[in-house]
Amino acid sequence: MSSTKVDIGFLEEKSSWLLHPRFFPSKVGGTPAWLDLQNLPLPTELTCKVCSDPLIFLCQIYAPYEESSDCFHRTIFIFICRNGSCCKTNSTDNILVLRCQLPRKNMFYLYEPYQEDENEEFPTDKWAKFCNICGAKAPSHCSKCKKSYYCGRKHQILDWQKGHKELCPKSQNTVLNNFIVTEAGKSILFKEWELVVDEESEEDSTDIDMNQEMEKLNKLLQEKKAGTLNNVSEDELQQYTTAVPVDKVFKKFSKRVSRHPDQVLRYERGGTPLWITGNSDNSIINIPNCQYCNGQRQFEFQVMPQLLNFINVGIDINSIDWGVLVVYTCKRSCNDGPAYKKEFILKQDLLN
Ligand SMILES: [Zn+2]
Ligand SMILES: [Zn+2]
Ligand SMILES: [Zn+2]
Ligand SMILES: [Zn+2]
Repeated sequence: MSSTKVDIGFLEEKSSWLLHPRFFPSKVGGTPAWLDLQNLPLPTELTCKVCSDPLIFLCQIYAPYEESSDCFHRTIFIFICRNGSCCKTNSTDNILVLRCQLPRKNMFYLYEPYQEDENEEFPTDKWAKFCNICGAKAPSHCSKCKKSYYCGRKHQILDWQKGHKELCPKSQNTVLNNFIVTEAGKSILFKEWELVVDEESEEDSTDIDMNQEMEKLNKLLQEKKAGTLNNVSEDELQQYTTAVPVDKVFKKFSKRVSRHPDQVLRYERGGTPLWITGNSDNSIINIPNCQYCNGQRQFEFQVMPQLLNFINVGIDINSIDWGVLVVYTCKRSCNDGPAYKKEFILKQDLLN
């Protein structure tokens, strides 16, 4: 029995404007709600190591360090490649984790919390230009209207094909809003949700509804497990979709998850991950020290496979997939290095 408290993340629908950077949201999908609005990561850093496409925002967790004035505001961001075929078993070449933090007194935000006023002016474009599609730093723009900004050629072409061709002549006289999702954005961004975090219940559930939820989860995992196999026959697939994983670690995982079957995140700074399988050796690998201060990293949170159910990625063989995504961050959350600091992520899949 573990005595440490774990926080659990759930998804709720929320109006997009309430997920604006000034409200310091935890969220999934849509464009990133950047914390430092000026010193954004370069498009070359936000690139898939497998296929070189721009990475797309997956989720962000607002997780301040109460004991450190440098981290009064602190957010961890996860980006992933949209091409499912870049997901390789237990590899994170298609994923990037960035940490950003600010003191309470900073150049971007007021000292006191913002009122929830939809009409409040907050011109983010005075700090940086954002890609019209993915919300990343945008060094280039449409040469015709000079109003539409892009992280690079790939998204500029996508926007042109998905409607900017028609809008371009009209947009020369209007101001484009960075936080309106374009048609091209809709085709590539993940569905947007608020991530609500709450304490995990201490009791294992015996509730009937919960059991149904667990069945849904097991079905997803089995389909996903089948999905990670390439070039298999229908018969073999059938075998995998009906076989229940039996390893001890997976049993423990299922039992613990059954307390809240719809959880998409587990947060336990300095705690231990809830591994999804024992048939993998990546739970014992050495976690590299922080590349900025050379200090130790520690476990901070993990993204659960249930998130795949909410972001419409499908269950095809080549869809985006993970068992668990486990994030380790600099223990003292140092201030060295760039505004957006790379942290360490492990992916553990059910199948090796
Ligand atoms: Zn890729
Ligand atoms: Zn972009
Ligand atoms: Zn244009
Ligand atoms: Zn560090």
